[in-house]
Amino acid sequence: MILKWAEKREKDKMMDDLGTFIDNLINERDSLADKVRNFSKDEEIAKLLKENENLRINSLHTLSEKERDEADAFRDEHWEKCKGNMAYLLTGASMGTAIEVICSKCKTQKDITDISVW
Ligand SMILES: [Zn+2]
Repeated sequence: MILKWAEKREKDKMMDDLGTFIDNLINERDSLADKVRNFSKDEEIAKLLKENENLRINSLHTLSEKERDEADAFRDEHWEKCKGNMAYLLTGASMGTAIEVICSKCKTQKDITDISVW
């Protein structure tokens, strides 16, 4: 008799735990459904486009991949040769921005402008 009673108590507790677990799952499901309902793809895209535009407007210049590679090579070369740092010289031209790199130690100057992006 006592054994049956203990068994029933254990079973009731497991049913309670299961009930709580199911309630949590239902809550999570409802919260995710809300998120999906309120997600606006167009709004997110508009936000990102605006952010991108801000970056473009407020940057002095965005290096092309070719310019980046040449600048990196120049920096590495002069760091090894003369421990010089690199300065950038940006010149606004009518078509685009001319870019030169200068070694702070040996004063070597190199035009790395990539006119293919003009
Ligand atoms: Zn140098």
